[in-house]
Amino acid sequence: MKILIDPGHGGKEQGAVGPTGLLEKDVNLRVAYFLKTLLENDGFEVFLTRTKDVTLTLKERVEIARKLSPCLFLSIHHNANSERNTHVNRFEVFVPFEFEGPSVSLGRKLAEVFSKHRGQIPFGPMPARYTVLKSSPFSVLVEPGYIINPDEEKRLRSDSYLKEEAKLLYEGIKWVLEDGCNFRLTLKRHTPREIVISRKDINIASLEVTIDDTSWGHYTIEEEYIKVLYPASWKKLHIKGTTPKGIEIFPFRYTNPEYVPIVSFSQSVREFGNLKLVHLSFFDNRGEYAKRGLKVRIKAKNGEVIKSSDTVEERGSVYILLKTDIPENEIEVSFKGFQAITNVHSIEDLRNDEIAGIVHGGGLPLENTLIKHERGYTISGKLGVFKTEVDDNITFLKKGYYPFYLVSPEPKENYYVEMRPIFPGISRKRILLRASMKNTAHDGSVQMFSSIFKNVLLSGGALVKDIITEFPGWDNEPYIVHKTVSEKPDLAIKVQSKENRLILYHYYRDTDTLEILKRISSYFYKLDIPSLEIKESSDYFAIHPSGRRIIINIPFNMNRYEAHLYSYLIFLGFEHYFADEPLTLEKLETEGSFVRAEHDLLTIPVKDGYIHIPTNILKLKLFTEEQTCIHLPDGNSAA
Ligand SMILES: [Zn+2]
Repeated sequence: MKILIDPGHGGKEQGAVGPTGLLEKDVNLRVAYFLKTLLENDGFEVFLTRTKDVTLTLKERVEIARKLSPCLFLSIHHNANSERNTHVNRFEVFVPFEFEGPSVSLGRKLAEVFSKHRGQIPFGPMPARYTVLKSSPFSVLVEPGYIINPDEEKRLRSDSYLKEEAKLLYEGIKWVLEDGCNFRLTLKRHTPREIVISRKDINIASLEVTIDDTSWGHYTIEEEYIKVLYPASWKKLHIKGTTPKGIEIFPFRYTNPEYVPIVSFSQSVREFGNLKLVHLSFFDNRGEYAKRGLKVRIKAKNGEVIKSSDTVEERGSVYILLKTDIPENEIEVSFKGFQAITNVHSIEDLRNDEIAGIVHGGGLPLENTLIKHERGYTISGKLGVFKTEVDDNITFLKKGYYPFYLVSPEPKENYYVEMRPIFPGISRKRILLRASMKNTAHDGSVQMFSSIFKNVLLSGGALVKDIITEFPGWDNEPYIVHKTVSEKPDLAIKVQSKENRLILYHYYRDTDTLEILKRISSYFYKLDIPSLEIKESSDYFAIHPSGRRIIINIPFNMNRYEAHLYSYLIFLGFEHYFADEPLTLEKLETEGSFVRAEHDLLTIPVKDGYIHIPTNILKLKLFTEEQTCIHLPDGNSAA
């Protein structure tokens, strides 16, 4: 049976460093060798991803695992906890993100062995999104201790301690491998009445069979098979279980290919000139709304489908925007296992003093765009369609987009209004904000900054995920890790107030984030705010997140104005970084000229004058005592 051991780091990547200089990469390799010997003496075929002190990328490690396809993959590390707290020392174990199957059992076993022999409360098994963890039935990453803890570092220098550690790892590994390497159930037959599944060595008492999320008892166990009888119109079969000694098998999931989820629908049509907005509501065989996310296909017999829902939306809804000059139309709607043809009739026509159209922004339909005309306003609806009074000058306003003016439109025509996002770069980016509230004395500042910051990000069109609020203690660390790993943000930001200065940290060796901070710093520099510091940090945002991450340390008792200003300047840096094409002063002068009158300015006093920020965040002006004007964002200050 093949086992692949992966000593973390190596070569140029030294990993964590102990207080007196012990290198993690060396400790990882020594433990790997000790473990290799133990396993080989037991007859296992053992391989190492690196056998000496060489640099190895994550990709190379994955490639080795892929080629070898071992039964067990173990990555060995001795890092630190997320806060780099040198007083803490503990055993940690990470398993693939799906958090199911044999790896979880191995993780549990190792945590049990280490807590028994070392008397610490282990951390994990926790889910992680490491690509290296996808390679084998058993795939785990362990951190048996923290090299940055002075006592642990001392112990890690001793070979007898490392041999003992290898022995504990060996103990857990040996225990799980006694049950072989095949932990999958496979489908043998699906007949009109039953499903036959090949049976592995399963503990019958551990079997959990569910159909459509309800426990299901109608199955029989035969020598080599499990036979499941099923009810009419079922959808999902799910089988879980363990081997006789308690190792989780991979769950068996099966979707009934003949399942018909949708049986009926209702229809309504709104007409906008030659545009028809068709709303269909679908129902399943129990009379409930069809489930969100079901894939749908739409075809129109006459006319053109301009835009439609790809999947079922809330309350079983599917929207279709149809362009046609014919009063009656046929639309074909099909799901997997369901097909319908519906007639779309004209209901009403546009009045002579109305126009209609669609609002788009950055290629997507824009709902809730404010449409102002002389006598009042309307808003755009589903799929961006609108109908409004004819006026000499109609204004389209949407937060985060340039205003759009429609001058003397002709009625009875359809308009495609394309709103340009002011910040194309940041729009629809996923940003995770975490407010660290460990120091109760400064929580107010952290909270205020976070909420202002969130509003600034939202006005730029970013998707801001929930603010995670962290409390003292380790209690919710698993939650933070889980959230950070599962949300897959484009950018993760932690706001804290540990020192009485404004500091932006980028993660150790993370050049992507450093690039963002450089851009932020240029905006602070333009406003002559010297108080910003940029530093490298080896604190994690949470353990093992992926992607870009930043820590913002804000001064104690920061006031509202500073919070506004700083959050805005930081935002400009993000915008600049994510922008497909960076904004230039020239561009703003031409495109921004008509915007100014339309929006209020937010005025913030700064050291030498005032800073005016339009609420749509287009332009910054700084008036100093000499009335010098500096435009932002641009490449050069225009004094
Ligand atoms: Zn490490």
